[in-house]
Amino acid sequence: MAKALVLERPRELTLRDIDLQMSMGPQDVRIRMDVVGICGSDVHYYRHGRIGPFVVTEPMVLGHEGAGTVLECGADVSHLRPGDRVCIEPGIPDFSSDASRIGLYNLDPSLTFWATPPVHGCLTPEVTHPAALVYRLPDGVSQAEGAMVEPLAVGMQAVSKARVMAGDVAVVMGAGPIGILTALCALAAGCVRVLIFDPSAQKVKTATQYPGIEALAAHPEGLPAQVMTQTGNRGADLVFECSGAAAAFAGVAGLLRPGGTLVCIGMPVTPVAMDIVALIVKEIHIVTAFRYANVYDRAIALLASGKIDVKPLISASYPFTQSIDAFERADQARPDDVKLQIFF
Ligand code: ZN
Repeated sequence: MAKALVLERPRELTLRDIDLQMSMGPQDVRIRMDVVGICGSDVHYYRHGRIGPFVVTEPMVLGHEGAGTVLECGADVSHLRPGDRVCIEPGIPDFSSDASRIGLYNLDPSLTFWATPPVHGCLTPEVTHPAALVYRLPDGVSQAEGAMVEPLAVGMQAVSKARVMAGDVAVVMGAGPIGILTALCALAAGCVRVLIFDPSAQKVKTATQYPGIEALAAHPEGLPAQVMTQTGNRGADLVFECSGAAAAFAGVAGLLRPGGTLVCIGMPVTPVAMDIVALIVKEIHIVTAFRYANVYDRAIALLASGKIDVKPLISASYPFTQSIDAFERADQARPDDVKLQIFF
């Protein structure tokens, strides 16, 4: 039995003992959790008890954005040792599956993912995990930054799939954590400018603290005209759709240059309409990105190099004993909160 933050049912969290049935194999490591970030998906499960087809039917431990310290290594583990500070990739694929063997292990249908029902998350003091999905943090990267690698990896996946070219101009739709982190990845990948849109002026203000990220005014109808003005009537090379909002998809072709790329990252909660003809007549490439594969090392390297600084995005940290307070604050969705974290 271990203490954990358990979602009992929608809007009911408890901090209680639960049997997590953790077993330790020769390729696993046991980790003491140090910091766990609260993700939009954790909050969504808290509010609604489901995300699309994933429904919480049994009490489930939340949390999947984790950093910790290695306590014990299985007999076959050679790249880690006790005491290493690490961050953890929360999705466990079958490494011998067809998807894994072609490098798309994030798409393995048998993949289990922390805090996606029925799998428990990491808001508990200790976890075991396959060592292959555990990454050592360099000296200059804190545990709090390490817990930001998971959402940063989403942005890394998006820019990798989009094949960003040096000098590209990108539009990012949505200035929540994923939007801002995707914008930072786009800049690191070579975009010369990122124009960001969000209906919340406060969120845009947070994003535009970073050099290279510029605001688009908060009128979705006027967006194509604004983007054309900002790009000398050319249109953006890329649009990273991080909002999942129907309105963002509706006019997206009008933001892009001929031959530009639409990268879909945000998950709409209901099917959305897109003007396919408008996309066809510009030969827009549509790229999708789901979670991530093979990007953690590069995300950590960007943090260590200082090319991406996530520290300004960590709005507040709560002790594990106050996890429920942290979720109640996350539920308020204050526009000036970007990432809330829980520490142990
Ligand atoms: Zn997340």
